Amino acid sequence: MKIGFIGLGNMGAPMAANLVAAGHQVTGFDLAAPCPDGVTKADTAVAAATGQDVVITMLPNGAILRSVADQVIPAIQPGAVLLDCSTVDVESARAVAEQAEAAGLMAVDAPVSGGIGGASAGTLTFMAGGSDAGFAKVNPLFDIMGQKAVHCGAAGAGQAAKICNNMILGVTMIATCEAFALADKLGLDRAKMFDVVSTSSGYSWSMNAYCPAPGVGPQSPADNDYKPGFASELMLKDLRLSQQAAEAADADTPMGARATELYTAFVEAEDGAGTDFSAMLPRFEKRHRPE
Ligand code: NAD
Repeated sequence: MKIGFIGLGNMGAPMAANLVAAGHQVTGFDLAAPCPDGVTKADTAVAAATGQDVVITMLPNGAILRSVADQVIPAIQPGAVLLDCSTVDVESARAVAEQAEAAGLMAVDAPVSGGIGGASAGTLTFMAGGSDAGFAKVNPLFDIMGQKAVHCGAAGAGQAAKICNNMILGVTMIATCEAFALADKLGLDRAKMFDVVSTSSGYSWSMNAYCPAPGVGPQSPADNDYKPGFASELMLKDLRLSQQAAEAADADTPMGARATELYTAFVEAEDGAGTDFSAMLPRFEKRHRPE
């Protein structure tokens, strides 16, 4: 396929490189980042989007996605797919899809899980929203860039699935970290704590696959001085998106709201920025019960 790729940052560059390695013809554009080997560099987003079968965007947020979509949609040939893999708010995903469809394009929102490691290895999970025809057209690309793609529903459903998943992740990571900090104060050995919880009803991905305690459980960012991994500020971005969506949908999400408050404090006031999101454990370790 002829593919335009806009946004070649930490995630976009390895995803584009995997498409090239699979034999696709990829033209890329980024305001700042260089093009990976094998990707033809375009001078503008419009040039990258013109004449392509699929145009992929991998951008920082919904506002930037909307402004790029405004520029490129008129240049994309009818029948092509605009495939947004960024994590953005549900409203922006739906607005961009509507605009694309009005111009005779198909639109798919397909945010990813799996991080930079998954992007490089081609093992991302895609959660997609959009029409059956749009999903079918880009599904072979999901096979190259990822290991699993779930068609979640209409436009915006991919973003909805992503923020619900990450709201659970933020909440379970905090719960796991505060429980380790309590276990410490109760004199419980961390390895014993892991052994029990990882095989009992308190288990979760945060405990079992990404244990926040160094030297315990599988290798995780905790074993690398809490270097990300999945940075605390990206966790905060996704939690804020979950609360924006909850507000718009009138959903009561008290744990999501509290997790958002805790990660806001961690990132903005407690030196959490630049650390992995599991560095909540050393944060709790240092603290005492509020008066
Ligand atoms: P990044 O900041 O490394 O990359 C974004 C790129 O977009 C940058 O290179 C930037 O120069 C470019 N860009 C910004 N505005 C542009 C414009 N108007 N035109 C063209 N290019 C523009 O971010 P990333 O880590 O690659 O993340 C991309 C998206 O993927 C985000 O929405 C993020 O939430 C999501 N995501 C990231 C991870 C992760 O672990 N990094 C995991 C899952 C999802």
